Amino acid sequence: MQIVNNIAVLKLLVRQARSNGQSIGFVPTMGYLHEGHLQLVRQAALENELVVMSIFVNPLQFGPSEDFEKYPRNEAADIEMAANAGCHIVFIPTSKEMYPKGFDSYVDVQGITTTLCGAARPGHFRGVATVVMKLFNLVAPTRAYFGQKDAQQALVIQKMANDLNMDLEIVVVPTVREPDGLAMSSRNAYLSADERKSAAILYQSLTAAKAKIMQGLNDPKQIVALIKSMIQSEPLAVVEYVEVVSADDLKEFEQELQSRVLIALAVRFGKTRLIDNMIIDLEA
Ligand code: AMP
Repeated sequence: MQIVNNIAVLKLLVRQARSNGQSIGFVPTMGYLHEGHLQLVRQAALENELVVMSIFVNPLQFGPSEDFEKYPRNEAADIEMAANAGCHIVFIPTSKEMYPKGFDSYVDVQGITTTLCGAARPGHFRGVATVVMKLFNLVAPTRAYFGQKDAQQALVIQKMANDLNMDLEIVVVPTVREPDGLAMSSRNAYLSADERKSAAILYQSLTAAKAKIMQGLNDPKQIVALIKSMIQSEPLAVVEYVEVVSADDLKEFEQELQSRVLIALAVRFGKTRLIDNMIIDLEA
């Protein structure tokens, strides 16, 4: 696996691969890799000849009071894990390489970025869309891989790619979970032992809500209330939002659930903010 820090070198390698007719699978990450990230790499390796991963803690997507400085980092472990999962090139730029002095252009996907995490984290998706657009332009991937864990992010990227006529396929990979159901996340490392135990309630509440929906419950307000009451039974959990919306456009349902339903939540345990979600396809 090649480790690249420099944009010019990355472009050269990608250009060579393209001229050899190779397909390119791309996995953007912020590092501190876990099985969730590696699943994206493995799928990219199955479907493409060249796999490129980026590791970049993108300052643009963090708010001023968020965890940019203390976001977990472990470059040496990441490099080993990425190579073992089938990655060929890992791109690890500095902030200066990505945002040199005078950088002044941003990508702003509107509409679907104002709800859920977008409401709680103003400017977050502008930062995400901008860095992903830059990375797409650098890597020129055939396919790019994103996790269902960040459902709104995957939708924002898909919308950006559609709206701006980008020539690539966005692939969304199912959420990889710990044995107790907690969605894997680099931020799980922040949790104390007690918080980690309590955090299992997130997946339990999503699963309970799904079971109720399958039994016929179709009032979004009742589903939200059920999930909130389950989560609030854990004293360490503080709910930021629980929403039941259309999985296609994140719009609220007028009365009853229809077609593809996204249940999305963000919950704090101490200083750690965790997100999770579940999609329920009523037509399936
Ligand atoms: P991050 O490093 O947190 O920005 O995540 C990089 C990519 O990995 C994003 O597309 C995430 O959605 C995806 N990802 C993170 N955690 C998981 C998980 N538990 N299962 C599947 N994909 C994940």
